[in-house]
Amino acid sequence: MPIATTNPATGQLLKSYDPMSAEQIDAAIDRADVAFRDLHGTTLAQRAQWMNAAADLLDAERDSTARLMTTEMGKTYVAAQAEVTKCATACRFYAANAERMLADEPADAGAVKARRAFVRYQPIGPVLAVMPWNFPLWQVMRFAAPALMAGNTGLLKHASNVPQTALYLEELFRRAGFPEGAFTTLLVGSEAVDRILSDPRVRAATLTGSEGAGRSIGQIAGRELKKTVLELGGSDPFVVMPSADLDRAAEVATTARCQNNGQSCIAAKRFIVHTDAFDAFAEKFAANMSALRVGDPMDENTDVGPLASEGGRDEIHAQVQDAVDHGATVLCGGEKPVGAGWFYPPTVVTDLNPQMRMWSEEVFGPVAGLFRVSSYEEAIEVANGTAFGLGSNAWTTDPQEQERFAVDLDAGSVFINGMTTSYPELPFGGVKNSGYGRELSALGMREFCNTKTVWVGEGAASAGAGAHAE
Ligand code: NAP
Repeated sequence: MPIATTNPATGQLLKSYDPMSAEQIDAAIDRADVAFRDLHGTTLAQRAQWMNAAADLLDAERDSTARLMTTEMGKTYVAAQAEVTKCATACRFYAANAERMLADEPADAGAVKARRAFVRYQPIGPVLAVMPWNFPLWQVMRFAAPALMAGNTGLLKHASNVPQTALYLEELFRRAGFPEGAFTTLLVGSEAVDRILSDPRVRAATLTGSEGAGRSIGQIAGRELKKTVLELGGSDPFVVMPSADLDRAAEVATTARCQNNGQSCIAAKRFIVHTDAFDAFAEKFAANMSALRVGDPMDENTDVGPLASEGGRDEIHAQVQDAVDHGATVLCGGEKPVGAGWFYPPTVVTDLNPQMRMWSEEVFGPVAGLFRVSSYEEAIEVANGTAFGLGSNAWTTDPQEQERFAVDLDAGSVFINGMTTSYPELPFGGVKNSGYGRELSALGMREFCNTKTVWVGEGAASAGAGAHAE
């Protein structure tokens, strides 16, 4: 895949880059390794100051950064502005909370026959981050902010279609004050990942991306015995029960499916509706989806911009066509527009069956699958009936049903009566083929820490559990 900016709204190639040479990659890894030792020696207060400076830069540069993202991958300018602000908030959150998240955790010394015993979280070194284009700033930030605060350094291999956003991120952390090499963008294609992750100086990897990329990186990391966090695809269920507020559910369903032009891992993709609510919900949902304005992502009145790539649009149209060929009904959308740009209309498809690709595959665009079920048990069966398990949604005002959904939905998160969203305060990740490990919260920060057990016996010099530099 060429490393280039191509505007998805026009199909026009704007800027391309040569991939870095083996020597350049080697030098960048070296800088990350040296910077790790520098960063390791700095105090949390110092790192917090740099992280807050990054937040200030993001706020000051919100509009130009948003324009860049919209130009590179087609999200609406309004959504891109919100993404920049979210990144600034996350930087401030980790600056303020890293000390608490990384504090020593005392254990029951008597139980382990020690004078003192505690757990200490220490950084592990340069971490390779392989990232996707769909939230080109946020996906990186939710790795980078906690990782840098913990004292790790980052090597970013961003998606090949967002090179300018990738370079912006390197510059952002450098200008904020982090040492040279603390955060480096590697302009490389995916074929370079094996070599980089095999380098002994690189200690771990995090990937946000497709199942295929996850399997590949997981294999390399297994061979090299390196820690990985894998945030992969999803086909999140959105279950609507008869007690739900159907107006609200249909409104959130529309946003949950079409935000980011339908290209979000935690977008609701399969709408599983109890038969008693089905007709009313289907009517409202299809009306809302049809009312969305598709067009120029820079126009603030646009709800849905283009897909990020021509291939991405072809893929979702093929999935819709396959469903239609096998007997599905299209309630709205489903036609590939002619003309420049990789636009696709918000689409609702129903009467699905297991022979159709849409039944089991992730649909990465503004296309909703609508399923009718006749009981809670059937809703759970359909909801859990894919290989994915990232997020999930359930709409019900019945407290007992809410409890049951929280237990029975086989996913990394369950959101009841609200849209699945990532928050710096809450862990984020999946089960099954949606990956493993967690980002965000203290759990995310500790994924790339050495969880070190310290045991101090009688008569030993005090190692003292308390504040420390890392
Ligand atoms: P992708 O093809 O897997 O690309 C993601 C990143 O992985 C890019 O940097 C890509 O580089 C790289 N890559 C691709 N194949 C690779 C391989 N075999 N070895 C090493 N690196 C590889 O994903 P996408 O289709 O562009 O993005 C959408 C997918 O990401 C969807 O499945 C979506 O659900 C998932 N996603 C998951 C989360 C989450 O948090 N769970 C969040 C967002 C997106 P190139 O660009 O150079 O190919």
